[in-house]
Amino acid sequence: MKTDTAFKVHLVSLGCARTLVDSEVALGGLAKEGYAIVHEPEKADVAIVNTCGFIEEAKMESIETILRLCQMKKEGRLRAVVVLGCLAQRYGAELQKELGEVDGVIGTNSFADLPRLLAPLRNKKSEKIFDVTSHPRYLLDETTPRYRLTPPHTAYLKISEGCINACAYCVIPQMKGRHRSRSIDSIVNEAKARAVGQQTSEINLIGQDTAAYGFDRDRTFQLPQLLEALAEAKAAPWIRLLYAHPAHVTEALVETMGRHSAICRYVDFPIEHSHDAVLKRMNRAVTRAKMEWGIEALRRRMPGAAIRTTVIVGFPGETDEEFEDLLDFLRQTRFERLGTFMFSREEGSRAYDMPDQLPQKVKEERFRAVMSLQREISNQIQESFIGKEVQVLVDEKAGEDGVYYGRTEADAPEVDGQAIIHTERKLAPGDFVRMRVTDALEYDLIGAC
Ligand code: SF4
Repeated sequence: MKTDTAFKVHLVSLGCARTLVDSEVALGGLAKEGYAIVHEPEKADVAIVNTCGFIEEAKMESIETILRLCQMKKEGRLRAVVVLGCLAQRYGAELQKELGEVDGVIGTNSFADLPRLLAPLRNKKSEKIFDVTSHPRYLLDETTPRYRLTPPHTAYLKISEGCINACAYCVIPQMKGRHRSRSIDSIVNEAKARAVGQQTSEINLIGQDTAAYGFDRDRTFQLPQLLEALAEAKAAPWIRLLYAHPAHVTEALVETMGRHSAICRYVDFPIEHSHDAVLKRMNRAVTRAKMEWGIEALRRRMPGAAIRTTVIVGFPGETDEEFEDLLDFLRQTRFERLGTFMFSREEGSRAYDMPDQLPQKVKEERFRAVMSLQREISNQIQESFIGKEVQVLVDEKAGEDGVYYGRTEADAPEVDGQAIIHTERKLAPGDFVRMRVTDALEYDLIGAC
């Protein structure tokens, strides 16, 4: 069905890497149906915001972006504005009622249906579009058209959708639905297609909880089998694991990661807290002992591995003693990479109604305490690389001649540090180089090759 190619679509992708893949699916389907994808809202007929609805801060960013585009529409610089994704899934009816300028509200079950859903806009019909399913079930596969939003040499492979867990502070299961995993063949075929088509140097495996991969299929954790298949398929020189819930990190997984050099000595291992009483109130379904085992096992099987984690400060009822316990745990464990969140009281989550909600001031104090401790730790870890050689994946040329930006195995895209490479050689994105580290910053390394 050849559509009006002049119908131009601009998409703003907010939130996490999982949302970015949803945006690639949304644009991939539209491009396949002849919609023109434009990179400036001024050049578009319709602007789509693929939103994040996780916590207050992210919700505010989504709302501000929607209002900015609605203002452009009021000024006649846009014909339509569509709200897509997590915020639409969570607050669909409210958004449609309160934001009169918005032409469409589309939830997390319909990323691949945009050509059908946007047809009224293309045919200049003024009807409002509303498509929010209470239980999203959508799951992409290797045949799903994708419009690449990452540089060619690095890609996100979404291996599952939805979540198997029920953390008390989290509404993602409500926005993304029940845990559902793609088949190993589907993921390997996509990886192979990318390896051939685009010479992908790095594949980042994502999901809400990648370590629970496959459990919905036959009640076993199948990530080891998937990693084995991707390594055997030589899918990419670097295969990186993100979002692995500590509760589901197994001996088999650690062993498989250690056995294959293509699997990055890196894992994103979100602990959220260290104190068993807090972990219980958070319903994290994991204990401090289990997490300590996971960290020790990963470091023993992959010497020099970088472990990234995230922690939440200010969870309801978090006592000074429990917070001190978290600081001690971070001091002892010395995570290579760490992100911190202040607890966000999200309606619809079980933690929303919990007693002993902490004042914002206390949350901010604890946030600063964790960040300053981690800055110290990160500085020491980074400085320990001075004089050593590290493998770096080149991402892009810097503005200055002879300077390039890249990442080591310990740096995931977007969330971690960088390597700043000085060289007389001509490098290209996707190249791997051996960089001698000459200096270190809090989160970045500087060197030459
Ligand atoms: S693991 Fe917990 S925090 Fe992460 S998406 Fe699932 S429920 Fe939310």
